[in-house]
Amino acid sequence: MAPVSEIANLIEAHQSAEELLRQADAALYKAKEAGREQYCFYTSELTEAALIRLNTEASLREAIVNNELSVYLQPQIDVLTGDVIGAEALLRWHKAAGFISPDEFIPVAEQSGLIHPIGEWVMDQVCCVGQDWMAKGYAPIRLAVNLSSYQLRHGKVIEMIEDKLNHYQYPANLLEVELTESALMRREDEAELILQQLQKMGVSLAIDDFGTGYSSLAYLRNFPLNVLKIDKSFIDELETCTEDREITAAIIAMGHTLGLKILAEGVETQQQLELLRDLGCDFYQGYLTSPAVAVDEFEQRFMKPMASPQGLEPRSGP
Ligand code: C2E
Ligand code: CA
Ligand code: CA
Repeated sequence: MAPVSEIANLIEAHQSAEELLRQADAALYKAKEAGREQYCFYTSELTEAALIRLNTEASLREAIVNNELSVYLQPQIDVLTGDVIGAEALLRWHKAAGFISPDEFIPVAEQSGLIHPIGEWVMDQVCCVGQDWMAKGYAPIRLAVNLSSYQLRHGKVIEMIEDKLNHYQYPANLLEVELTESALMRREDEAELILQQLQKMGVSLAIDDFGTGYSSLAYLRNFPLNVLKIDKSFIDELETCTEDREITAAIIAMGHTLGLKILAEGVETQQQLELLRDLGCDFYQGYLTSPAVAVDEFEQRFMKPMASPQGLEPRSGP
């Protein structure tokens, strides 16, 4: 029989082996975050970060069961006419303790694989709302859904989108998929294939956060894109920073040459909007018009009945 001291040693060895694996895992996570072919050494802050991540993951699982997630919509506006031409679906997580930002929980959902059921649920909600609005006879607008680069890795994303469109009989040309510039760069081959399939289905494709990923517009020619969304960081300083104004002007001009529609993100002031109009930007999104709001509120504020055929305008009053 092994002496007690040896058992204690074994326990200690076992604990440190487990600890070592946990630490290696934390370092692996950090390295993965930095992109492909990276390495990272363990530090104690990584354990803290890993614990926070585990906690968030556990409450996110509960959130799904307890219906704490909802889809909000932010209007997308035509710069020239002021018409609402579309809406971006943005996830919201309301916990009893308060609101949790998608910037906090989307990365956790991505790392844990929860992004797949959550992404499918968002697509389901969006197609369901779109179909409901069509049935109510509103003038159609395009609904945009964010796709994570982790969803690209999952071979079933095309089938998932096809399924939802078929199930709700929602037209593919009223759906837009947003992929960030960095997601396109990280998963170039997968992304190209998936985007080609989506294009064949008639789904519109937008490149999100453009200008942050250091890709060139020439590189974008490889992808069948429809819309280019200029990142908010260029719009913020549009009034004061000549460089940002020149970059924005160049993105708009070159994007147009490639046959893309240009949307500016995060427009907060009338001056920014006027500058964007002068630069020939097509669409914008931002707090100037509205943040993302609940679906019912969006319907009341922004959905309009389909225009009647000419000459058949309903008369107002007797
Ligand atoms: P994003 O796709 O770039 O979305 C735009 C973000 O900017 C949203 O933040 C939106 O609320 C915010 N925004 C819009 N206009 C303004 C403005 O005028 N001023 C300011 N300060 N902010 C503005 P949000 O909703 O917190 O989402 C953050 C990010 O989380 C999104 O960035 C997107 O990457 C991700 N996300 C949100 N919902 C989903 C989803 O359903 N699926 C996936 N994969 N990612 C999502
Ligand atoms: Ca987006
Ligand atoms: Ca964006």
